[in-house]
Amino acid sequence: MTYKDVRLILKRLNLRPKRHLGQNFLVDNNTLNKVISESHIKKDDIILEIGPGLGALTERLIEKAKKVYAIEIDPILCKYISEKFSNHRNIEITNGDILKVDIPFNNKVVSNIPYKITGPIFERIFFKEKPPQGILIIEKNIADRIFFEGDYKKYSRITISFNSFMKPISKFTIPRNSFYPVPKIDLALINTAPKAQINQFLLKDDGKKFYLKFLAGIMPYKNKNIVNAIELFLKQNGISKLDKKEILQILKKKKFNNYKIFSYKIEELIELSKLVFNFYNLKKNSD
Ligand code: SAM
Repeated sequence: MTYKDVRLILKRLNLRPKRHLGQNFLVDNNTLNKVISESHIKKDDIILEIGPGLGALTERLIEKAKKVYAIEIDPILCKYISEKFSNHRNIEITNGDILKVDIPFNNKVVSNIPYKITGPIFERIFFKEKPPQGILIIEKNIADRIFFEGDYKKYSRITISFNSFMKPISKFTIPRNSFYPVPKIDLALINTAPKAQINQFLLKDDGKKFYLKFLAGIMPYKNKNIVNAIELFLKQNGISKLDKKEILQILKKKKFNNYKIFSYKIEELIELSKLVFNFYNLKKNSD
């Protein structure tokens, strides 16, 4: 699909791209080819596409995959692509919010996603047992955080949460003029696969929920020692009668030293969150 095609379709539908829905349509065939070649689609792949829009990517996916589930929030675009692909049997289009609808089983997610809800999309799609492979166009800034390469400014909550479930494989910058309208941010294509082993603590609902909350609580203090960050986290979560020595002792018992947060490996942070989870529940129940 080219810039001209997209402009023409929008004109015919009497539509303007909706900013609040992050509608930046793909208008560059080189970028489309790159997404498809990175996806290595096999005949038995069951693909989820988040936000198919006008179907530029969708039409390439249905040529190759066994099945494509496309979930689009905009009813007008949904109607348009439902008609456009009405002759294809291997596509199921749902009008709904990717953060709310039931998501059918899929082994690959291939999408140019709505950039503003990248974090919640990751949480819904990838932060679970047996996540799918993901080939996605996302904000470059977030891609750089996921593919953290030693620049500590880029080491953040999403670096750790994402890498707890997924293994980043490759990342490519995508020119802004691949989209209409041209987005205000830089974008990147990422290819990621599920991690071979996900920590059991994260596979329990309460464990995962606590871990993500723990990361959100401690990462703003990534330059502090872990005990100080844990103390602040617990205070923010209603545990105020605290003895720092107590936390230090618990950590020591489990052979954790009081280092700065960024010195811990991901698996260690998961273990630390497990310790704090138990401590938090103990304190909460004794209040
Ligand atoms: N895939 C199309 C393309 O590449 O040309 C459109 C990509 S555009 C960046 C994002 C698409 O996601 C839009 O079609 C938008 O309407 C849709 N969208 C936005 N929020 C959504 C949500 N919560 N659930 C499902 N689709 C959503």
